[in-house]
Amino acid sequence: MKLKPETVLTNEKGDRRPITPFPRKLRHNKQKPKPPSTESMSHSRIAIVGGGFAGLYTALRLSQFPWEATQCPDITLIDRQDHFVFSPLLYELITEEMQPWEVAPRYVELLQESQIKFLQTQVESVDVTAQKVLCADDQTVDYDYLVIAAGGTTKIIDIPGLKENAIPFKTLNDALRLKEQLRRLEQSDLEKIRVAIVGGAIAAWN
Ligand SMILES: Cc1cc2nc3c(=O)[nH]c(=O)nc-3n(C[C@H](O)[C@H](O)[C@H](O)COP(=O)(O)OP(=O)(O)OC[C@H]3O[C@@H](n4cnc5c(N)ncnc54)[C@H](O)[C@@H]3O)c2cc1C
Repeated sequence: MKLKPETVLTNEKGDRRPITPFPRKLRHNKQKPKPPSTESMSHSRIAIVGGGFAGLYTALRLSQFPWEATQCPDITLIDRQDHFVFSPLLYELITEEMQPWEVAPRYVELLQESQIKFLQTQVESVDVTAQKVLCADDQTVDYDYLVIAAGGTTKIIDIPGLKENAIPFKTLNDALRLKEQLRRLEQSDLEKIRVAIVGGAIAAWN
Protein backbone atom coordinates (compact mmCIF):
# COMPACT_ATOMS: atom_id res chain seq x y z
CA MET A 1 0.00 0.00 0.00
CA LYS A 2 1.45 3.37 -0.98
CA LEU A 3 1.02 6.14 1.54
CA LYS A 4 1.41 9.81 0.91
CA PRO A 5 4.10 11.24 3.19
CA GLU A 6 1.72 13.89 4.46
CA THR A 7 -0.81 11.29 5.60
CA VAL A 8 -0.89 11.52 9.39
CA LEU A 9 -2.73 10.17 12.39
CA THR A 10 -3.36 12.29 15.41
CA ASN A 11 -3.39 11.24 19.03
CA GLU A 12 -5.53 12.64 21.84
CA LYS A 13 -3.08 15.48 22.46
CA GLY A 14 -3.28 16.53 18.84
CA ASP A 15 0.26 15.35 17.98
CA ARG A 16 0.43 14.25 14.38
CA ARG A 17 2.52 11.35 13.16
CA PRO A 18 2.81 9.56 9.82
CA ILE A 19 0.65 6.48 9.53
CA THR A 20 1.76 3.13 8.18
CA PRO A 21 -0.34 0.36 6.72
CA PHE A 22 -0.76 -1.20 10.15
CA PRO A 23 -2.03 -4.68 9.36
CA ARG A 24 1.08 -5.56 7.34
CA LYS A 25 3.33 -3.95 9.94
CA LEU A 26 1.64 -5.80 12.77
CA ARG A 27 1.79 -9.12 10.97
CA HIS A 28 5.54 -8.81 10.63
CA ASN A 29 6.18 -7.26 14.01
CA LYS A 30 9.18 -9.12 15.40
CA GLN A 31 9.06 -7.51 18.85
CA LYS A 32 6.72 -9.74 20.76
CA PRO A 33 5.34 -8.30 23.98
CA LYS A 34 5.34 -10.35 27.17
CA PRO A 35 2.10 -12.26 27.70
CA PRO A 36 -0.21 -11.61 30.64
CA SER A 37 -0.48 -14.22 33.36
CA THR A 38 -1.12 -17.28 31.23
CA GLU A 39 -2.54 -19.45 33.98
CA SER A 40 -5.84 -17.61 34.02
CA MET A 41 -5.93 -17.33 30.22
CA SER A 42 -5.28 -20.99 29.35
CA HIS A 43 -7.66 -22.26 26.68
CA SER A 44 -9.69 -19.10 27.01
CA ARG A 45 -12.21 -18.06 24.43
CA ILE A 46 -11.99 -14.37 23.67
CA ALA A 47 -14.83 -12.79 21.70
CA ILE A 48 -14.29 -9.33 20.26
CA VAL A 49 -17.34 -7.45 19.00
CA GLY A 50 -16.39 -4.90 16.36
CA GLY A 51 -13.47 -4.98 13.97
CA GLY A 52 -12.61 -1.28 13.84
CA PHE A 53 -9.28 0.10 15.00
CA ALA A 54 -10.03 -0.90 18.60
CA GLY A 55 -11.28 -4.43 17.96
CA LEU A 56 -8.89 -5.39 15.18
CA TYR A 57 -5.82 -4.10 17.03
CA THR A 58 -6.92 -5.88 20.20
CA ALA A 59 -7.33 -9.15 18.31
CA LEU A 60 -3.98 -8.81 16.54
CA ARG A 61 -2.06 -7.84 19.65
CA LEU A 62 -3.58 -10.65 21.70
CA SER A 63 -2.79 -13.15 18.97
CA GLN A 64 0.84 -12.00 18.93
CA PHE A 65 1.58 -12.84 22.53
CA PRO A 66 4.06 -15.73 22.68
CA TRP A 67 1.45 -18.12 24.02
CA GLU A 68 2.48 -21.65 24.75
CA ALA A 69 0.61 -24.02 22.46
CA THR A 70 -1.65 -25.31 25.23
CA GLN A 71 -2.52 -21.80 26.39
CA CYS A 72 -3.20 -20.08 23.12
CA PRO A 73 -6.70 -18.60 23.42
CA ASP A 74 -9.37 -18.91 20.77
CA ILE A 75 -9.93 -15.40 19.50
CA THR A 76 -13.08 -14.63 17.52
CA LEU A 77 -13.47 -11.24 15.91
CA ILE A 78 -17.07 -10.39 15.02
CA ASP A 79 -18.11 -7.62 12.65
CA ARG A 80 -21.20 -7.06 10.53
CA GLN A 81 -19.03 -5.91 7.63
CA ASP A 82 -16.64 -8.12 5.70
CA HIS A 83 -14.03 -5.37 5.60
CA PHE A 84 -12.08 -3.11 7.90
CA VAL A 85 -12.15 0.65 7.15
CA PHE A 86 -8.94 2.62 7.42
CA SER A 87 -10.89 5.83 7.94
CA PRO A 88 -7.97 8.33 7.68
CA LEU A 89 -7.56 7.16 4.09
CA LEU A 90 -11.19 7.54 3.01
CA TYR A 91 -10.25 10.82 1.36
CA GLU A 92 -7.76 9.12 -0.91
CA LEU A 93 -10.59 6.92 -2.12
CA ILE A 94 -12.51 9.96 -3.26
CA THR A 95 -9.48 11.50 -4.95
CA GLU A 96 -8.73 8.11 -6.56
CA GLU A 97 -5.25 7.94 -5.07
CA MET A 98 -6.27 4.65 -3.52
CA GLN A 99 -8.59 1.80 -4.38
CA PRO A 100 -11.36 0.43 -2.14
CA TRP A 101 -9.39 -2.76 -1.40
CA GLU A 102 -6.50 -0.65 -0.08
CA VAL A 103 -8.62 1.57 2.16
CA ALA A 104 -11.05 -1.16 3.18
CA PRO A 105 -9.25 -4.52 3.11
CA ARG A 106 -11.28 -7.64 3.83
CA TYR A 107 -10.89 -9.23 7.25
CA VAL A 108 -10.22 -12.67 5.78
CA GLU A 109 -7.19 -11.24 4.02
CA LEU A 110 -5.99 -9.19 7.00
CA LEU A 111 -6.26 -12.18 9.31
CA GLN A 112 -5.10 -14.94 7.02
CA GLU A 113 -1.69 -15.23 8.69
CA SER A 114 -3.14 -15.19 12.19
CA GLN A 115 -5.07 -17.70 14.29
CA ILE A 116 -7.93 -15.24 14.72
CA LYS A 117 -11.33 -16.48 13.58
CA PHE A 118 -13.49 -13.96 11.80
CA LEU A 119 -17.26 -14.07 11.94
CA GLN A 120 -19.29 -11.73 9.79
CA THR A 121 -22.59 -11.15 11.49
CA GLN A 122 -24.64 -8.53 13.30
CA VAL A 123 -24.35 -8.84 17.07
CA GLU A 124 -27.80 -8.45 18.63
CA SER A 125 -27.12 -8.85 22.32
CA VAL A 126 -24.90 -10.41 24.93
CA ASP A 127 -26.03 -12.89 27.54
CA VAL A 128 -23.58 -11.99 30.27
CA THR A 129 -24.76 -14.75 32.61
CA ALA A 130 -24.39 -17.50 30.03
CA GLN A 131 -21.30 -15.77 28.53
CA LYS A 132 -22.67 -15.86 25.01
CA VAL A 133 -22.73 -13.32 22.20
CA LEU A 134 -26.06 -13.59 20.39
CA CYS A 135 -26.02 -12.79 16.69
CA ALA A 136 -28.66 -11.96 14.10
CA ASP A 137 -28.57 -15.28 12.28
CA ASP A 138 -29.08 -17.36 15.44
CA GLN A 139 -25.37 -17.92 15.73
CA THR A 140 -23.92 -17.71 19.19
CA VAL A 141 -20.33 -17.25 20.28
CA ASP A 142 -19.35 -18.55 23.70
CA TYR A 143 -16.73 -16.56 25.50
CA ASP A 144 -14.65 -16.43 28.65
CA TYR A 145 -13.52 -12.87 27.95
CA LEU A 146 -15.50 -10.34 25.97
CA VAL A 147 -14.26 -7.16 24.32
CA ILE A 148 -16.91 -4.77 23.06
CA ALA A 149 -15.42 -2.43 20.50
CA ALA A 150 -18.53 -1.57 18.49
CA GLY A 151 -17.52 2.06 17.90
CA GLY A 152 -19.98 4.89 17.57
CA THR A 153 -22.56 6.12 15.12
CA THR A 154 -22.75 9.36 13.23
CA LYS A 155 -24.78 11.84 15.23
CA ILE A 156 -27.45 13.42 13.06
CA ILE A 157 -28.04 16.78 14.68
CA ASP A 158 -31.46 18.33 14.57
CA ILE A 159 -31.12 20.60 11.55
CA PRO A 160 -34.07 20.53 9.13
CA GLY A 161 -33.11 18.78 5.89
CA LEU A 162 -29.80 17.47 7.15
CA LYS A 163 -30.85 13.84 7.45
CA GLU A 164 -32.45 13.82 3.99
CA ASN A 165 -29.76 15.71 2.13
CA ALA A 166 -26.41 15.25 3.82
CA ILE A 167 -24.06 12.33 3.30
CA PRO A 168 -22.39 10.90 6.38
CA PHE A 169 -18.67 10.22 6.06
CA LYS A 170 -17.65 7.18 8.03
CA THR A 171 -18.02 4.00 6.01
CA LEU A 172 -16.75 2.74 2.68
CA ASN A 173 -20.24 3.17 1.21
CA ASP A 174 -20.42 6.75 2.50
CA ALA A 175 -17.16 7.57 0.73
CA LEU A 176 -18.25 5.91 -2.52
CA ARG A 177 -21.56 7.75 -2.36
CA LEU A 178 -19.83 11.08 -1.79
CA LYS A 179 -17.42 10.39 -4.64
CA GLU A 180 -20.33 9.67 -6.99
CA GLN A 181 -22.14 12.80 -5.88
CA LEU A 182 -19.05 14.95 -6.48
CA ARG A 183 -18.57 13.33 -9.89
CA ARG A 184 -22.15 14.22 -10.81
CA LEU A 185 -21.65 17.80 -9.67
CA GLU A 186 -18.43 18.08 -11.67
CA GLN A 187 -20.19 16.87 -14.79
CA SER A 188 -23.13 19.22 -14.33
CA ASP A 189 -23.46 22.67 -15.87
CA LEU A 190 -23.11 24.36 -12.53
CA GLU A 191 -20.87 27.37 -12.64
CA LYS A 192 -19.59 26.75 -9.16
CA ILE A 193 -19.71 23.68 -6.97
CA ARG A 194 -20.49 24.45 -3.37
CA VAL A 195 -19.94 21.83 -0.70
CA ALA A 196 -20.94 22.42 2.92
CA ILE A 197 -19.35 20.36 5.68
CA VAL A 198 -21.30 20.03 8.91
CA GLY A 199 -19.10 19.19 11.89
CA GLY A 200 -15.53 20.31 12.40
CA ALA A 201 -13.90 17.32 14.04
CA ILE A 202 -11.21 15.07 12.66
CA ALA A 203 -13.25 13.61 9.79
CA ALA A 204 -13.88 17.11 8.46
CA TRP A 205 -10.52 18.79 8.67
CA ASN A 206 -8.29 16.04 7.26
C1 LIG B 1 -13.09 10.22 7.66
C2 LIG B 1 -12.46 9.94 8.99
C3 LIG B 1 -11.13 10.27 9.22
C4 LIG B 1 -10.53 10.03 10.44
N1 LIG B 1 -9.21 10.36 10.63
C5 LIG B 1 -8.62 10.09 11.82
C6 LIG B 1 -7.25 10.43 12.04
O1 LIG B 1 -6.57 10.93 11.16
N2 LIG B 1 -6.72 10.16 13.26
C7 LIG B 1 -7.45 9.57 14.27
O2 LIG B 1 -6.92 9.34 15.35
N3 LIG B 1 -8.76 9.24 14.08
C8 LIG B 1 -9.36 9.50 12.90
N4 LIG B 1 -10.68 9.20 12.72
C9 LIG B 1 -11.43 8.61 13.84
C10 LIG B 1 -11.20 7.09 13.89
O3 LIG B 1 -11.49 6.51 12.64
C11 LIG B 1 -12.10 6.52 14.96
O4 LIG B 1 -11.75 7.08 16.20
C12 LIG B 1 -11.93 5.02 15.03
O5 LIG B 1 -12.31 4.44 13.81
C13 LIG B 1 -12.76 4.44 16.16
O6 LIG B 1 -12.48 3.06 16.17
P1 LIG B 1 -13.41 2.03 16.88
O7 LIG B 1 -12.78 0.66 16.69
O8 LIG B 1 -13.69 2.46 18.27
O9 LIG B 1 -14.82 2.11 16.12
P2 LIG B 1 -15.20 1.87 14.59
O10 LIG B 1 -14.08 2.16 13.68
O11 LIG B 1 -16.52 2.55 14.39
O12 LIG B 1 -15.43 0.29 14.51
C14 LIG B 1 -16.56 -0.32 15.07
C15 LIG B 1 -16.78 -1.62 14.33
O13 LIG B 1 -17.81 -2.33 14.99
C16 LIG B 1 -18.69 -2.89 14.02
N5 LIG B 1 -19.97 -3.03 14.69
C17 LIG B 1 -20.66 -2.07 15.35
N6 LIG B 1 -21.80 -2.58 15.86
C18 LIG B 1 -21.80 -3.91 15.52
C19 LIG B 1 -22.73 -4.97 15.76
N7 LIG B 1 -23.86 -4.79 16.47
N8 LIG B 1 -22.45 -6.18 15.26
C20 LIG B 1 -21.30 -6.38 14.54
N9 LIG B 1 -20.40 -5.42 14.29
C21 LIG B 1 -20.65 -4.20 14.78
C22 LIG B 1 -18.70 -1.89 12.89
O14 LIG B 1 -19.06 -2.51 11.67
C23 LIG B 1 -17.25 -1.41 12.88
O15 LIG B 1 -16.44 -2.17 12.00
C24 LIG B 1 -11.29 9.44 11.50
C25 LIG B 1 -12.64 9.09 11.27
C26 LIG B 1 -13.21 9.35 10.04
C27 LIG B 1 -14.66 8.97 9.82
